[in-house]
Amino acid sequence: MSVLKYLGGYPPAVLDKVRQLIDRDELGEYLHKRHPDRHEVQSDKALYAYADALRQEHLRNAPGIDRVWYDSKLDVISKALGMHTAISHVHGGRLKARKEIRIASLFRDTPPEFLKMIVVHELAHLKEAEHNKAFYRLCEYMQPDYHQQEFDLRLYLTWRDLEAARGA
Ligand SMILES: [Zn+2]
Repeated sequence: MSVLKYLGGYPPAVLDKVRQLIDRDELGEYLHKRHPDRHEVQSDKALYAYADALRQEHLRNAPGIDRVWYDSKLDVISKALGMHTAISHVHGGRLKARKEIRIASLFRDTPPEFLKMIVVHELAHLKEAEHNKAFYRLCEYMQPDYHQQEFDLRLYLTWRDLEAARGA
C-alpha cells in the first residue's frame, strides 16, 4: 500500500489498475509510451524564463515573480508537488511581498508535460492560496489536461521510487 503513497485520494478502481501495472512490471513502459520526451529547461535562469512566459501568456494580471529556481532540498511528498512562498520583508518602510517559486530539482529531468504541470500549479497559487475549485480552474485554463498530467506525474514518482528500491 505504501508503494501508492503518491496516489492517495484516487478511487480504489484506479489504484487497482495501477497495482496491476506494477505487478506486471509494465508501469515504466506505460509512462515511457505516454511521455517519451525530456524538456531542456535546465538552469534556474531558463526555469524563470519558462515560468514567466507562462504567467505572461495566461495570468497577465497576476503579480510578477521575483525568483524561480530548482531546489534540491525540496521534499516533493511533504510539500505536495512543489512549494510557493511569499516572503515578506520591509522595503523602504513598506512591506513588500516577494513571490518566489521553488521547483523540486527532480523536475529538471522529466517529460515537458510534468514540468509544465508543476509550474502551472505554482503559478495558480499566485492567485489562489488554497487548492479549491477556483485554483483547479486556473490550472486547467493554463493546461487543459492538468488533471491527467498530475495523475501521470504521480505515477512517475511511484515508478521512480520503485526503480530506486530495485537498484538498492
Ligand atoms: Zn499547491
